[in-house]
Amino acid sequence: MEDQGGASVRLHQLGLYVDNHLHDRYLAPPLTVVVATLLTLWVPWWQALLWAAVELVVIAVYVNVYLRFRRAAAVAQDEVRWARRIALAHGAHMAMWSSIVVWAYQPGNLANLMFVMLVHVGLISLTVVMSNPHRRLLFSDLIAPALALVGPPLLDGTLFSLGLTVLGGLYIALMLMVGLKIHASTTEALVLRQRNDALIEELEQQVRRDALTGLANRRCFIDSGQAELQRAVRYRHALALLMVDIDHFKPINDSYGHLAGDEVLKAVAAVCAATVRSNDCLARLGGEEFAVLMPETALDEACAAAERLRAAVARLCCELPEGVVKPTVSIGVAITADGDETLSSLMRRGDRAMYAAKAQGRNCVVVAPALD
Ligand code: GH3
Ligand code: MG
Ligand code: MG
Repeated sequence: MEDQGGASVRLHQLGLYVDNHLHDRYLAPPLTVVVATLLTLWVPWWQALLWAAVELVVIAVYVNVYLRFRRAAAVAQDEVRWARRIALAHGAHMAMWSSIVVWAYQPGNLANLMFVMLVHVGLISLTVVMSNPHRRLLFSDLIAPALALVGPPLLDGTLFSLGLTVLGGLYIALMLMVGLKIHASTTEALVLRQRNDALIEELEQQVRRDALTGLANRRCFIDSGQAELQRAVRYRHALALLMVDIDHFKPINDSYGHLAGDEVLKAVAAVCAATVRSNDCLARLGGEEFAVLMPETALDEACAAAERLRAAVARLCCELPEGVVKPTVSIGVAITADGDETLSSLMRRGDRAMYAAKAQGRNCVVVAPALD
């Protein structure tokens, strides 16, 4: 779970990295052309042209990898695979830039040394700014330009060049510190966001669930019931409602205590959940009252379902430490009337039928008359 959370943070970081680097498609091609033009000061024009052409192809390849990552809607488990792919594509681009020290650096030529070093100072700064969201990629992106910054002056062998190497090394260390600091603060923000998202999801669940039985609560029932009723009225589909109330529940509490009463409530809720269909909406409305909204269900089917539910509860035998309880329920059945039925009028008719079932001796099913 911890590792899953870590992987999902790293996937977010990869997303930020890709977002940052996607700006490259506007910056990298003109920079390539400028640098290639300046390189003609020291190398034949065809070498600079060839380098620019290959570099432009490499840019196209890594931008394509970024765009494919964006489209892929990757999940946490894919993070390592994508990070590897991106490291490869973007690493080729960094290596292309840093390759200029191999074929364009002229030892002993100060102007050339300054140019090569400045290119890499710029490259390292841009890398730190753009790669910092993803730590592994920050390191892998820095390897080539870091070597290319400190390498050439070392080749010169003079004291002045050695000083430049030391300066270059200090600059890399400073930039690495900056990059890692930004990385730490974005990670903290992402972890906080992840925790907030999880908390919001949990709160949303709590707002819609009944804590004792785990069923949908009244608010959830009213929301989904209203939507279901609108659909049924618009498309003239049948919709049935069962109002279910546990019989003589107060004496159970009075005889065995509230905790025992809670256990009975949970057991009845579990029987209801096991008996209704998966697309029926079962909820605890409050106290010892439950409701079942049954889409696409006509009167005879609803009565059969209510009877099945009543019989299932009647078979229930709650063996509690305080004693054995055999609860029963009374059920009122109401079917959507044609015309302007509202959820409250449907529930009112279901309630009346349920009270009629109580009056008929309880542990039975009564159907509400069609009209108010
Ligand atoms: P009837 O057959 O007419 O429905 O009788 P009844 O005793 O079931 O109905 P009544 O409305 O008099 O009592 C309902 C009882 O349910 C009263 C209340 O204390 C109890 N109750 C409501 N919510 C809870 C709860 O969450 N846990 C427990 N243990 N009892 C609850
Ligand atoms: Mg009751
Ligand atoms: Mg009641």
